[in-house]
Parts: sequence; C-alpha cells; structure tokens
Amino acid sequence: TSHPEQVGAVAGSAPADRLPADAVAAARRAFEQDVTKPRPWRVAQLRALRTLLVEHEHEIAQALHADLGKSATEAWVTETGFVVREIDHTLRHLRAWTAPRRVRVPLSLKPGRAKIVREPLGVVLVIAPWNYPVQLCLAPLVGALAAGNAVVLKPSEVAPATSALLARLLPMYLDTSAVHVVEGGVPETTELLAQRFDHIFYTGNGAVGRIVLEAATKHLTPVTLELGGKSPAYVSDDADLPVAAQRLVWGKFTNAGQTCVAPDYVIASRQTLEALKPLLVDAIRAAFGPDPSTSPDYGRIIGARHFDRLAALVDPARVVTGGRSDAATRYLEPTVVDVVDADDPRELVMREEIFGPVLPLVPVDGLDAAIDFVNRRDKPLALYVFTTSDAVRRRFERDTSSGALAFNVPLAHLAVPGLPFGGVGASGTGAYHGERSIELFSHAKSVLSLPTRPDTTVFVRPPFSSAKQQVI
Ligand code: NAD
Repeated sequence: TSHPEQVGAVAGSAPADRLPADAVAAARRAFEQDVTKPRPWRVAQLRALRTLLVEHEHEIAQALHADLGKSATEAWVTETGFVVREIDHTLRHLRAWTAPRRVRVPLSLKPGRAKIVREPLGVVLVIAPWNYPVQLCLAPLVGALAAGNAVVLKPSEVAPATSALLARLLPMYLDTSAVHVVEGGVPETTELLAQRFDHIFYTGNGAVGRIVLEAATKHLTPVTLELGGKSPAYVSDDADLPVAAQRLVWGKFTNAGQTCVAPDYVIASRQTLEALKPLLVDAIRAAFGPDPSTSPDYGRIIGARHFDRLAALVDPARVVTGGRSDAATRYLEPTVVDVVDADDPRELVMREEIFGPVLPLVPVDGLDAAIDFVNRRDKPLALYVFTTSDAVRRRFERDTSSGALAFNVPLAHLAVPGLPFGGVGASGTGAYHGERSIELFSHAKSVLSLPTRPDTTVFVRPPFSSAKQQVI
C-alpha cells in the first residue's frame, strides 16, 4: 500500500508502449521473429531471472513486507527462493524435457519414423494474484520462457509494492522484446483479455476465473485456472497430535492464512478436537509468542476489504483462542474457532474459502463421515490427512479427489518440483511446476515421416485386393 501512485499503466497516462494492446503486439512480434525459440535464449532468460532474484532479494523482501508484512525469511522460502529453485530444476532438465521423443510406428507404416516435438505456443498471458505476488507471477513465467514463449505478465494491483517492483526490475534483466509487464487492475486486465493469446494462465478466485474463461472462448485460447476453495485437514484419532497441531499452525498462519493451499478448516472426532485445542494454543504461542502482533514472523492482511471480511467471520462466542484484531494495522490474531453445525448457513466460516488466519474446528463422527464430508463439497485444491495408519491413508487415496493429497504435512507438496501443482473441478484446471510447466506451455506436435520408396502406402490404397486386406 506504500506505492499507490505507481500502480496502473492507465490508458492515457502511460507511455504508448505500455498500453496493454501494445505490449501484446510487441510480444507477438518477438515470437514471430523467432526470438524466443532457440534454447540458448531460453537458458539466458532463466539465468537472468535468477540473477535478478538473487541481486534484489532484499528489495523484493521489502516490497513483500510493505504489501503483506511478510518476514524476510518467509519471503525467501515461499517466494524468491522458491522461484530460484524452480529455475535451477528447470535449467538442469530443460534439454531432456524439450528434446523430441521417438515413437514406434506400426508395421504397416515401416520404415517410417514418428516423433513428438515440443513447440512453443506463442504469446502467453500470466495473470497473478496478490497473496504470493512474486512466486505466482514468476513461477509460471519460468515455465513459459523455458518452453520458448513470449510472455505478458499482469501482476496483482492488490499487492502494489510488489507489482511496481516487478514492473521496474523485470525489464532490466529480461529481453524486453519478448517479456512485458502490464500493471493495473480490472480495466487493464479487461483490455488485455480482449487480445488474442495462445495461452492464458490465471491464478486467483473462481469468479474472475469465469471471466477469464469467457474472454478466452472468443479466440479459442486454452486456459489454465489455478483457483482456490476450502482445503480440509482431517485429523484421525490415531494421529500424532502434537505434530499435527504444530504443522496445522504452520500451514494455516503462514502469510496470515492468505495461502491458496492453507488448511482451511480441521475435521476430526469430538474427542480428538478437544485434545487438539490446547496443543494448537501451545503451537501458536511457540511460533509467534504470547502476543503475535509483536512477532516479526507474523504477517498482515492484504487490505481493508479483506480485513473487514475476515473480522466479520469471527463470532466471539465461538473463539477457542485468538480473535483480537486491529483495523489500522490490518492485524488479525491467529484465531481458532469452534463450528457446531457446518451445514448451517449461519456458520459463516464454513461458507467460503477463509483465506485468512481463522481456523475452524469441525466435529465429524469418524473416518467415513470425514470422507463423506469432503466428498459432499467442491473438490479441494489440497486435502490434508494427519494419521499414522496405512488403512486411513489408503481410504483417502482411493475415496477422495483433490488437486493434491498430503499426509501429515500441509503446503510442502509445492516444494517437490516433480509434483504437478494444480486443482481439479472447482479448484482449477491444468497444473504446472517443473516438467509439467513445459507440457503446459508447449504443444506436443506429432511428426510422421515416410520415405517414398519402398512405397508401403500401396497396401492401404485402392484397389483393395484380398491379399492387401490380409496385410491391413
Ligand atoms: P486478486 O484479487 O489479485 O485477483 C487475481 C487477478 O485477477 C489479479 O491480477 C486481478 O487484477 C485480476 N482481476 C481481478 N478482477 C478482475 C476482473 N473483473 N477481470 C479481469 N481480471 C481481474 O487475487 P484473488 O482472486 O483475491 O486471489 C485469491 C484467490 O486465489 C483465492 O481463492 C486463492 O485460493 C486463489 N489462489 C489460488 C492459487 C493456486 O495456485 N491455485 C494460488 C493463490 C491464490
């Protein structure tokens, strides 16, 4: 919020080349002139982006602190360093991931040769949200560049300090013919979405996801939607409860709960919930001290609108721990609340994704009821299960569907570069990270090549003698 004057390449006030349509046209020119296809160019861009992140780690941390009160350590682990690791992993495997793959041809087409060639799509639009404004802008960029595309980036105007910093730094390091940053909010994004892209990669809420999808249909542009929703955490009666409490507190209160894969709520049997409560209180105190408002490791809510929304969710009569807040500093204490009846529409915390530091505890009657609870709702982006039982593990693997399923740990599946990251159903379509990003941002072109002699097509061409029919 400290640089509102820098936000927005607003039509009329921006230099002509920063207007959304001009940025897209320039990116398209670069792609058509083959700027982005050679592997050395891709490698150079990834290396330059890595240098940017390392050289400006401190400035990036400051912007993230201004926007979200993130600590420098959290900023490195979950944002800047995260993208560095993604770059390193990609550079290590880029040659193998982009190499043509030979495919066997059937006998009737021998001695023909077949292969799959990965070709870049063209111009990719990345629309990023505010909660991890570096990671969710740049991790898709890594994949799009590695696959050989030109890219238009639209950082979130809701994290203005980070948006302004990215708009300033990226052109200093990356090829400005092929990589363009367009700042702004709804008007600029609407103007962008009217352009033709070869792929649109959107991260954010489902309501805007629908707008993106609708705009894309006009040009038949493929779309990746990285959405959110309520990610449940089931704590089984056999779980290691102190560990579960610690990890739930970490997963929930990182970035003050503003994490798409944060455990949204806990479901467990009544007795397990009761046993968990004092452990959650201890774990919050161990992480953030007796007064989290003074902890350098505890973040703030992004803006007044989200603060008001979250403050209104907390019913003081239901607070297990926490509940204090300060609108002026957008501070909301790590808060745990009881839910009596999750299906009662008056249970506000159970209606929509919370996306803040409020953890509801929802009683269910055992394993079957927990699985049923999950399956009666939208397919979540992440599903967490705390258990020491292989039987419980198997049940969740077999009987539930979610973008990701993680046992005994929240958030950490994002740190496994070989695991695709994405949702299913209401939590999104498409996935990325590592090799999945290359697959996402390229087209697997089928290439078949037949020699002219011997002419084997004679067998499949008329006239069809009975001898031929036996061959085919
Ligand atoms: P946001 O408000 O920053 O919006 C996301 C982007 O959409 C921004 O760039 C914004 O400018 C643009 N936008 C907003 N309104 C628009 C409109 N009318 N037309 C076109 N573009 C528009 O972020 P948000 O949506 O509040 O993000 C939070 C949501 O994102 C949560 O639901 C969260 O779960 C989800 N999320 C998902 C992931 C994931 O990887 N799956 C990651 C982070 C957040």
